Amino acid sequence: MIIEKIETLNLAVPLHTPFKTALRTVTVAETVVVKITCDNGVVGFGEAPPTHVITGDSLASIDYAVTKIITPQLIGQSLLQSERIFEKIHAALVGNSSAKAAVDIALYDCLAQQANSPLAQYLGGYHERIETDYTVSVNSPQQMAADAEDYCKKGFTVLKVKVGKDEIATDIKRITAIREKIGNDVLIRLDANQGWKPKEAVRAINEMEQSGLAIELVEQPVKAHDIQGLKYVTDNTDTMIMADESVFSPRDAKRILETCSADLINIKLMKAGGIHEAMKIAKLADVYGVECMVGSMIETKIGITAAANFAASQPNITRFDFDAPLMLSGDVIEGGIEYEGKQIHLNDAPGLGIAKLKEDFLQKGMD
Ligand code: MG
Repeated sequence: MIIEKIETLNLAVPLHTPFKTALRTVTVAETVVVKITCDNGVVGFGEAPPTHVITGDSLASIDYAVTKIITPQLIGQSLLQSERIFEKIHAALVGNSSAKAAVDIALYDCLAQQANSPLAQYLGGYHERIETDYTVSVNSPQQMAADAEDYCKKGFTVLKVKVGKDEIATDIKRITAIREKIGNDVLIRLDANQGWKPKEAVRAINEMEQSGLAIELVEQPVKAHDIQGLKYVTDNTDTMIMADESVFSPRDAKRILETCSADLINIKLMKAGGIHEAMKIAKLADVYGVECMVGSMIETKIGITAAANFAASQPNITRFDFDAPLMLSGDVIEGGIEYEGKQIHLNDAPGLGIAKLKEDFLQKGMD
């Protein structure tokens, strides 16, 4: 199976409700779709959304990295030696993790199709069912409590609440308002998206512990680069602390694991540079007995289908944050994963199971 052609397409999908975190507000999901065609007719899809404030990738940089830098190295290469291909992708340029992920996902789609296996089974096939949490965007306490109640009514039993945008007293008001509204049966995890300072984070988390807010975990309380600060928070709180923006690569994960700087790791294909590197992070975490979540950027069903298949394949991936396609005003593909409330149904078709790319959200003038 030889790589014959690699193409990019731009999609823009409006969100039905703005997605707000400590770092950004998103109203339209923009993404670069990568389509790889092999000489035996197998076609694979991948995608990369630009998340400037986290990965540094932009629409233009993703397109340039894929078409001008990675593609020339891959055309004519055989997927029977896939390790050589992944080596070429990662050696082609530093950074640009999302661009690499888009190509990597499309290649895994091809490889699993060639093996006539759904991607989750191709990668190991561990979990038979996975359920997603749902994100409560950062807003006023009243708004967030109303949103949380709405998501619970829709059947979600785990809420990921965005905090870290304003002063900590406001965050505590937000969580208190949510807890009062939804009761104690729903699991709440927080994501501060780097918004707190280490001592502030410890103070806030300790206060939440003492007031019985029952927070399952806190994701990325401090700046991505502040590993000492992350460790300080982990060492000085009872609540589990999860590293997200602090872990892009397997090397980042190694540092966190060796120094016990976090209790959990959030793996995202767009940070890791695709499934090949994400798998290394999961396996390495497993060596340390550390569980992982798999999450995503604001991706369409293409990226989330890949992430969900990867997440379902590994035993120490125990948490799933795949609500992004539910925030979009429409689907960009036929096939892939399907949602039934919080339940995610993986597709039984080989690869990602994408039957077709819909044209509704294609940006004209790109090729
Ligand atoms: Mg996060």
